[in-house]
Amino acid sequence: MIAQSNSVRVAVLPGDGIGTEVTEAALAVLEPLARRHGIGIATEMLPAGAFHYKETGEAFPESSFRAAEKADAILLGAMGWPGIRYADGTEIAPQLDLRFRLNLYAGVRPVRAIPGVPVALAHPRAREIDLVLIRESTEGLFHSRGKGMVTEDLAEETLRITRATTEKLSRFAFRLAERRAVQRGRKGRVTLVDKANVFRAFAFMRTVFDGVAREFPAVESGHHYVDAMALDLVRRPWEFDVLPTENMFGDILSDLGAGLVGGMGFSPSADIGDEHAVFQPAHGTAPDIAGQGIANPSAMLLSAAMMLDWLAARGAGQGFADAAAELEGAVDKAFGEGLRTADIGGKDGTAAVAKAVAARIGR
Ligand code: ATP
Ligand code: MG
Repeated sequence: MIAQSNSVRVAVLPGDGIGTEVTEAALAVLEPLARRHGIGIATEMLPAGAFHYKETGEAFPESSFRAAEKADAILLGAMGWPGIRYADGTEIAPQLDLRFRLNLYAGVRPVRAIPGVPVALAHPRAREIDLVLIRESTEGLFHSRGKGMVTEDLAEETLRITRATTEKLSRFAFRLAERRAVQRGRKGRVTLVDKANVFRAFAFMRTVFDGVAREFPAVESGHHYVDAMALDLVRRPWEFDVLPTENMFGDILSDLGAGLVGGMGFSPSADIGDEHAVFQPAHGTAPDIAGQGIANPSAMLLSAAMMLDWLAARGAGQGFADAAAELEGAVDKAFGEGLRTADIGGKDGTAAVAKAVAARIGR
């Protein structure tokens, strides 16, 4: 819980490339938003990333990690750069260190049609798409990543599902569905995405999930095989609400989800654990467009809104929930009223989006 109500400390890790550009846009919008809602958001800028590694030999200074760990929430741009790698050739990705060191097991990826932003489906109900994928982020098919067994004639990886993590993930999904149901004035629905017909690990995951579902009788619960879900996310995505799933399935389905509703520039995400959470756009550092001022900061703005909502749920105060709703609404209004970024064929740059969204706060 957050000790001092109505005021929080946010660790900000802008990172590299367009990460720094969309972070600047988000901070420019958070300031008037905080003022309007009478909430305190103290930000602390922390160095980390590929360029910091190039300059100092350290990608993620321990001082940055400690400060991030102590903050109430962490807002992250994007990290990594082509041509800058660790001495052993591996990619610079301090955000993954954060995920594992802070045990952020729930990867939350909302998929929502934003007014004015093109959707991939021609169906009249495509504008109703409003679901959340929850990707388990610490085990599943990523468990043996880097530790898989390889001989000359055989390669093997492990699928790991634990009761403890599945219970936490399921509870997180049902609580989120309850919260969304209140916000939207309808019944919540949680659908576990698995492959329980083939793998014992997923049959086990289903049993544990069903046990947790009984704690939430007001929320509908069900299951869907991942192959059927791939089909239905294209055929009838508007029928789904909260979709918890295994690590690899979530990785794949969340990109499918982003593709449904305007692409990476509109896809926010959060990595949430029991005590800590990192909020960041789903996209990377986009070296192809970095430095041009044309990156779409919407994913970052929507991630910041998720952060405010999570802080409210943790006890920071109603002002944070109101600010979250207003920020999301301001993004919707700006695009609904004609704002068009380069990734959807328009001309509005990063600063223009920040300005347009800020102008719709308090209106
Ligand atoms: P990572 O390896 O970090 O996951 P990536 O290399 O797969 O990242 P991105 O850096 O997200 O991918 O970029 C993929 C494509 O999407 C690029 O062409 C990039 O320009 C575009 N893109 C990503 N984010 C944005 C954004 N916010 N606004 C506009 N275009 C974007
Ligand atoms: Mg990249």
